Amino acid sequence: MKDNTKESIDKLVHAQRTYFRSGVTRSYDFRMKALNNLSKLVRNNEAKILHALKTDLNKSEAEAYTTEIGFLLEEIRHTQKHLKKWMEPKKVKTAKTHIGSKGYTIAEPYGVTLIIAPWNYPFQLQLAPLIGAIAAGNTAILKPSELTPQTSKLLDELIKEYYHPDFIAVVEGGVETNQILLDQPLDYIFFTGSVPVGKIVMEAASKRLIPITLELGGKSPCIVDETADLKLAAKRIAFGKFTNAGQTCIAPDYIYLHKNIRQPFIETFKEVIKEFYGENPLQNEEFGKIVNDRHFNRLKGYLSEGEILFGGRYDEISEKIEPTLIAPSDTSSPVMTDEIFGPIFPVMEYENIDEVIEFVVERPKPLALYLFTINKETEEKVVSNISFGGGSINDTLMHIATPYLPFGGVGESGIGSYHGESSFVAFSHNKSVLNQTNKFDFSFRYPNAKLGLKIIKKLMK
Ligand code: NAD
Repeated sequence: MKDNTKESIDKLVHAQRTYFRSGVTRSYDFRMKALNNLSKLVRNNEAKILHALKTDLNKSEAEAYTTEIGFLLEEIRHTQKHLKKWMEPKKVKTAKTHIGSKGYTIAEPYGVTLIIAPWNYPFQLQLAPLIGAIAAGNTAILKPSELTPQTSKLLDELIKEYYHPDFIAVVEGGVETNQILLDQPLDYIFFTGSVPVGKIVMEAASKRLIPITLELGGKSPCIVDETADLKLAAKRIAFGKFTNAGQTCIAPDYIYLHKNIRQPFIETFKEVIKEFYGENPLQNEEFGKIVNDRHFNRLKGYLSEGEILFGGRYDEISEKIEPTLIAPSDTSSPVMTDEIFGPIFPVMEYENIDEVIEFVVERPKPLALYLFTINKETEEKVVSNISFGGGSINDTLMHIATPYLPFGGVGESGIGSYHGESSFVAFSHNKSVLNQTNKFDFSFRYPNAKLGLKIIKKLMK
């Protein structure tokens, strides 16, 4: 990783600003070509991308393709299909106080944008926001996570090969590099990462009033009621919880089971884990590793915070922890207060759905929520009484994978959203323009108008 000095970053931001001000990034053709280029970057380097993800996170090919490569290709395709329409100025109605004028809004690019990515989907979470940045006509500086060095290095090499740095550049580095970047006169910051660092980013942005999007994390609940299809629920929940060894921002964090189905669900869930990962998931090449020592040790610590119902074994050398169910002894212990971000699943029990609602709303608003039920009343009650970023009924994770649903958090789980048109909107300023007629002029607004106030009161009531 090369050294990024304040001077080199100052120079880069200055060069990108000059490039942005030249106006070249704004045309439809330029944006479409840049998106084509991104598509080529991903398609032509599939093997290298898979290799980097395997080295950094032991991601299996199927998982890496679905969640990192395929996801990006779909987003690019969707964006290219709709970009022309999104770029069109949007006419608005004329208020009766404004007769004669025409109003419209234009989506204008912010300018020089910074996109900071975390390590858990290090390729996709760096490039998915970039699709929005390009589509909206911005330049972009990308800051990958230092915890996934192979992917960070590959991103740097590929972006250099496919784009001019005045348009898109990677700045590799850790906290110090990020601090230098956050101190720059940027036009927009898109941050994906943890809640504590999200606060640091927001504080830095506030000094220059830089607009931001924060895609953060937190504890996402999963609820299974007595009407759920247990086998299907078990499969879909295991998929959501153990993909990437639980290191997914929207992974179900803990599970609330109705007391009548608690035991049968747990038995079914254990069977599903064996079907997915075999008798010994630690030996399964397809099962992900924990990103580093610090996170591995943090997760190991949770194993002593309750009764292990299933799993609980780990391997220090490969830094893997097997899918584990734990009945927490105390809801105020770290396993029930920290974001777990690993394959450990606390199991809670409830009798009445109101207890679950109360438990969730007393805590920070979650990024995701999952409910397994066929009872419409329960669905309605949970969806309308709990604030959460987004979620799925009778599934997990899938709400993130459609470009038609905006993705983002609320409260402590984030600010703003993206994917599909929302990415274009996130990276654009919606500029309002009123085009006034010169054909006539309402003189009642002027201070010397007779009966002016009377007319104004009639119009504005
Ligand atoms: P992180 O907040 O530690 O790091 C994210 C980025 O911030 C990295 O590029 C890192 O270099 C930088 N950074 C770290 N410490 C910093 C500091 N003190 N000052 C300035 N910059 C700093 O997050 P992470 O551990 O990489 O990722 C895991 C977190 O991200 C989880 O909380 C997870 O829920 C969240 N996440 C959210 C989403 C989402 O879409 N909402 C997606 C993935 C991950």
